[in-house]
Amino acid sequence: MKWLAVSLALICIAPIAHAETEAKQLFGAQKTASPHKAQVFGSYAKGCIAGAVQLTETSPTWQAMRLSRNRNWGHPDTIDFIEDLSRKAAKLPGWRGLYVGDISQPRGGPMLTGHRSHQIGLDVDLWMLPPKRLNLSRKERENISSISLRRAQGAYTNSKFTQQHMDVMKAAAKDPRVARIFVFPGAKVAMCNAEKGNRRWLRKLRPWWGHHYHFHVRLKCPKGSPGCVNQAPPPRGDGCADAQKWVDDILNPPPPKPRDPNAPKPAPRRELTLKDLPPQCTTVLR
Ligand SMILES: [Zn+2]
Repeated sequence: MKWLAVSLALICIAPIAHAETEAKQLFGAQKTASPHKAQVFGSYAKGCIAGAVQLTETSPTWQAMRLSRNRNWGHPDTIDFIEDLSRKAAKLPGWRGLYVGDISQPRGGPMLTGHRSHQIGLDVDLWMLPPKRLNLSRKERENISSISLRRAQGAYTNSKFTQQHMDVMKAAAKDPRVARIFVFPGAKVAMCNAEKGNRRWLRKLRPWWGHHYHFHVRLKCPKGSPGCVNQAPPPRGDGCADAQKWVDDILNPPPPKPRDPNAPKPAPRRELTLKDLPPQCTTVLR
């Protein structure tokens, strides 16, 4: 009888202990996708993906980089998007296609290192390095570096920034599946200045920190994923004045705002547990 009580207690405690474990440990340990149909649960920085598809490591128009990370898993829409954009990139002078960086882990979720987003198979990092070859070995793909396109902490582009970079980012922004693209402020301003025609696509280009070795494409929630939470769309307009403000603030940083001594201290960022994620993510892990 005592034995039975102990076993029951263990059975009851186990799922609770699981719920307290950092979600990044649970999702970071997954090696394969879940055996469900593709569906996204939650938001870009707090969610997971069932039935993710692994991006083919090498194709005629792309290579997945840093294979050891096992982050080349995404929603089928993301895989289709990469395929389509890589075909357009392959037509640009000096570009054989795309070098593809991180998408998501096999079941999405928080990661042990790096990104806060990239959790639902709808974010993808695309390298700024123009692919000259698409026959890089696994080892080369671990060791080769991308190139930075920024100057003056991202206020300006450098001499490696080309028309083709603008063309590939514009093609991405014009894709109806794309919600937004993150890139350093100097690149957005350069593209604002270069565009003499329809400026609508510029709205999706969002100035952000980092993002000078790669640009980050975020897709909208796909059809058939009612549990997927879209981010609010970017503000109306082309966003060029906002990007210029980012640049001005880099060149002439505004004085730091004095801290209100009565304001409560911001809580330290807590690691996500399974309880923070949509309940379906527990099933996705199983
Ligand atoms: Zn990214």
